[in-house]
Amino acid sequence: MHDYIVEPLSRLNIRQIVKAFRKFLGIKYESYVDVTTLLDVLSKKFKGFSYQVVANNTMPKKVFATTDINSGKIRIKQKIFDNACDGDGFGRYCIAHEIGHFILLKLCGFELAKADTHIITPKYMDPEWQAECFAGEFLMGYDAVKNYSIDELVTKCVVTKKAATYQYNMFRK
Ligand SMILES: [Zn+2]
Repeated sequence: MHDYIVEPLSRLNIRQIVKAFRKFLGIKYESYVDVTTLLDVLSKKFKGFSYQVVANNTMPKKVFATTDINSGKIRIKQKIFDNACDGDGFGRYCIAHEIGHFILLKLCGFELAKADTHIITPKYMDPEWQAECFAGEFLMGYDAVKNYSIDELVTKCVVTKKAATYQYNMFRK
C-alpha cells in the first residue's frame, strides 16, 4: 500500500485503538498474544475477515503477507505462518501488521486515498507506518508490559530484539 495515504493517526491514537481491541478480545493484560490462533478467532468474530495461508512461490521474495481491504482477506506465505506458529518474532510481527491493516482500514474504516507521488507522505499518514505501529503496540500491549525490560519484551512477548528495543523506547517517549 505504498502508493496510498490514509487519515492521520498518531502512535497514541493507535495505542488507544489497540487498547480497545485488546479489551474486546479479553487480552488487555496479557503479555503474550497468540497471533496465529487469533486469526481463527477473528474469522469467527468478524464477518468481513478471512485469511489464507498460501504457497511460498505465489508471492515475491520480499512479500510476506498481504491484506485485501475490499474483501477483508489476509494472505500469508506458508513459511511466515509456520515460523510464526513456531514462535518466530518476525513472522508474528508480519501477521500482526496485516491484522493492523484490517483493523485500521476495514474495521475502523479510516479511508485510503491515492498518494500524490510528488509529495512526501508524512509517516503518520502512511498505512504501512500505521500497520507497523499497530503491530508493535498490539504484540507489546502498553497496559501489560510498559515496565518490561528489552529482554523481558523479547522473551515474554515473543518479538525480535529489534522490535522490542524500538517499542521499549516508544513507551518512554
Ligand atoms: Zn502492510
